[in-house]
Amino acid sequence: MEALQSYTIRFSGLKNGFHDFAYEIGGDFFKHFDGSLIKNAQLKVALELERKTSGLVLQFKLTGELEMPCDRCLKQIQVPVAGDAELVVKLSADPGESTDNLWFLPITAYEINVGQFLYETISLMVPLRALCRPEDSNSCQADFEALMQQYDGSAAKEEEDGDIDPRWEKLKNLKLN
Ligand SMILES: [Zn+2]
Repeated sequence: MEALQSYTIRFSGLKNGFHDFAYEIGGDFFKHFDGSLIKNAQLKVALELERKTSGLVLQFKLTGELEMPCDRCLKQIQVPVAGDAELVVKLSADPGESTDNLWFLPITAYEINVGQFLYETISLMVPLRALCRPEDSNSCQADFEALMQQYDGSAAKEEEDGDIDPRWEKLKNLKLN
């Protein structure tokens, strides 16, 4: 977890008011999380932190790309993502139960680490389905379209012979995503 030290914010020295932080997240970040589905990414994080006497309000904005395997051809592709997240930190002598987005800390706390919070936020941004885009180099979508045309040609030819292979008929009906 050493490298995640850069995500530690020592708020005890911050004056009440707004403070801006910026982070860049790459592949190294995810090595700190066992079993992470994300192995590589290029993300920018803009954090606006409001320091109050009673605690902190952190507003995160994330933009960039996640590297994921295409669901169809398994090639590693860059998937653009963007998201927001808010974290509220309350300093209290009588701390309540913390949740994902609301942390209670003892009144003597002086720093927080947002590494785990960022990891969880990014994990929620992973799209359910990732597919090559037609404009990607070596896109399987382009291959697929070429293949479809080829099959269409063959099917049309067979149609002339009055004998359509039902497998091709099915392929023709496949919808591209
Ligand atoms: Zn693909």
